[in-house]
Amino acid sequence: MRTLIAATLLLLPIAATAQQAKTRPSTMFVMHGGAGTITRKTMTPEMEKQYRDAMETALKTGNAILAKGGTSLDAVEAAIRVLEDSPLFNAGKGAVFTHEGKNELDASIMDGKTRKAGAVAGVTIIRNPISAARAVMDKSKHVMMAGRGAELFATKMGLEIVDPSYFWTERRWKALQQELLQEEATEPKKFGTVGAVALDKEGNLAAGTSTGGTTNKQYGRIGDSPIIGAGTYADNATVAVSCTGDGEYFIRLSVARDIAALVEYKGMTVKQAGDEVIMKKLKELGGEGGAIVLDHNGNFATPFNSEGMYRGWIGADGVPHVEIYKE
Ligand code: ASP
Repeated sequence: MRTLIAATLLLLPIAATAQQAKTRPSTMFVMHGGAGTITRKTMTPEMEKQYRDAMETALKTGNAILAKGGTSLDAVEAAIRVLEDSPLFNAGKGAVFTHEGKNELDASIMDGKTRKAGAVAGVTIIRNPISAARAVMDKSKHVMMAGRGAELFATKMGLEIVDPSYFWTERRWKALQQELLQEEATEPKKFGTVGAVALDKEGNLAAGTSTGGTTNKQYGRIGDSPIIGAGTYADNATVAVSCTGDGEYFIRLSVARDIAALVEYKGMTVKQAGDEVIMKKLKELGGEGGAIVLDHNGNFATPFNSEGMYRGWIGADGVPHVEIYKE
């Protein structure tokens, strides 16, 4: 009898794991394209279609990699590159301007399996900052490189280098001029950072974020997006997170890591942990924005305390879903 109980106990964890593996979707991919004052009123049908199309293309790009058995890291990097190349989003081409009229870009990526991470901050000539972040992770012994050093490193690694004027877009230039004119006025805030979290067939999580920061930021200002634990975090044991919003608040609250910690220490679900940090702690401090959160079972949440957040997901069925507004 005793042997029987012992044998049953031994078998239990195996049975539980097997059951989880059965119910876990084989892959899951979730993205955001920034949060802020995004309402039906402020959007034309043409603009909305452009955003939806771009999000769908990026989601499908990530999913195609996962469907072939590619890694969550590759999916995150490839999909973020798509949105970095789109002038619609505040990352890569389409990045916002600093007070001085420059584009200074930040990005980071994290591997949930190894908890290795890479980031670049304040770069001005790297076409795809997310790939530079990946190179820092894969090909250097560091986690973050900034400014000219990061640019030299990216050049050496063979990444595509562009003239700073590549990042100039009329829409973002106008936004800066508007802010300069009414510096003290309370403009509706729009972000537009991009981020992705992925779960691959091997059960590995990854997260990445890329941004131009905030319009009219001071020279040298770095937001949360390239900071591991603030704007980006991934750990197979808990969740992958990518954030968007007022970077200063996300840094002060270590938002991405805080969400993971609530899952880890309090056993919260992705929704509970995301809501606790984004809808409560961040809001109470006065910070606006959102996050995408994905766990190793494929459960995900997309909490935001702003009017809207470009967001979308695609599972193993390959059907992309995109949402923009609160309701
Ligand atoms: N979080 C970014 C930053 O503060 C901005 C954004 O999400 O749009 O740099």
